[in-house]
Amino acid sequence: MLITHDLAVLSEISDKIGIMYGGQMVEFGSSQEIYKNPKHPYTQGLLESIPTLKGGTPKYIKGIPPSLLEAPTECRFIDRCPLVVDKCKQVPPKFKTKTGYVRCWLYEDEK
Ligand code: SF4
Repeated sequence: MLITHDLAVLSEISDKIGIMYGGQMVEFGSSQEIYKNPKHPYTQGLLESIPTLKGGTPKYIKGIPPSLLEAPTECRFIDRCPLVVDKCKQVPPKFKTKTGYVRCWLYEDEK
C-alpha cells in the first residue's frame, strides 16, 4: 500500500486506487477506471490539476478541505463541489454503487 498525493506516480505502480477526501474514501477502483473515467467530482478535480506536457493551465479545486473536527454532516466535499444537487444538502451519500465504489449522489441510479 502506498499513500501519496502524487497521482502521476500512482498511475505507474498501482493496480487499484482509493481516493480519500475529508477522512473518507470517496472513490475506489482499478487504476485504469480512475484515470480514464473518474466519477467523483473530487477525483475529477485532482486529475485536472495535474500539469501535462501538452501545455495548458491546470485547473485547481476551489476552497479548502473541511476540518475533521467540524466535518459537514452531509457530503464532506459539498463546500467545494461544482456539481451539487439538492439531495447533497440533505443526507450523506453512500459509498457503494451497483458498478463500483463512489461516494456521490450523482451516481444514485447505480445504487
Ligand atoms: S454528493 Fe453532491 S456535493 Fe458530494 S461530491 Fe457528489 S455532487 Fe458533489
